[in-house]
Amino acid sequence: MALHLHYDDLPHGVDFGPSVAVDTETMGLSLVRDRLCLMQLSAGDGDCHLVQFFGRNYAAPNLRALLSDPNVEKLFHFARFDVAMIQQYLEVDATPLYCTKIASKLVRTFTDRHGLKDLCRDLIGVEISKQQQSSDWGAETLTQDQLAYAASDVLHLHALQARLDVLLEREGRSAMARACFDFIPWRARLDRQGWDEVDIFAH
Ligand code: MN
Repeated sequence: MALHLHYDDLPHGVDFGPSVAVDTETMGLSLVRDRLCLMQLSAGDGDCHLVQFFGRNYAAPNLRALLSDPNVEKLFHFARFDVAMIQQYLEVDATPLYCTKIASKLVRTFTDRHGLKDLCRDLIGVEISKQQQSSDWGAETLTQDQLAYAASDVLHLHALQARLDVLLEREGRSAMARACFDFIPWRARLDRQGWDEVDIFAH
C-alpha cells in the first residue's frame, strides 16, 4: 500500500482507470457548518491518493475534472453525504456513481448492519479500524494514523462492489440499485436545501 498526499488538488495526469473509490473527511456531519478537509481516492489497486484542503482553496481543476468525468465511475460508501459535500465545495456532481451502503441495504435485508466495517468483515473478511473517525481533520498536519485510517475507507470499495453486484444480480435488484444511485445527487440537493430530515415520499 502506498499513500500519496497532495495539497488542494490532484497532480495532473494521475490515472484511476474506469472506476475510482472516493471518500471525504470533514469537520463534522453538518453540510452547512462543516468544511471539507480531505478527499481520498483509490483505483482499487492498494494505492491511495489523499488531497488535503488546508488552505481552503477548492479550485482543484484536476479533481473536478476526474469527479465529473462521465467515463469514470465514482464508488462511495454512503454517497449521499460525500456527494453533497462535493457539490457544496467542488461544485460538481460526482456521477456516474455507486454506493456500497445502498447496495447492501437492497440485498442484505437479513441485517441492519450496513456500516463499512460490517461490510468489510462480512463480505471480504477484512477488519478495518474506525478509531480515527472522529479526529480533527482540520489540523494542518495530519498524523500517519489519520492518513492510514482515511485511506482504509477507500481501499476496499472495489472488492465490496464486486461482491455486492453478485448479490444484486442474484436478488434481481440491479436496476433498482442503479435507479437509487442515479437519484443520489438530487437526494443530496434536497439535504442541502432543507429537506434533510423529511421523506417527501411519505404520506
Ligand atoms: Mn471516511
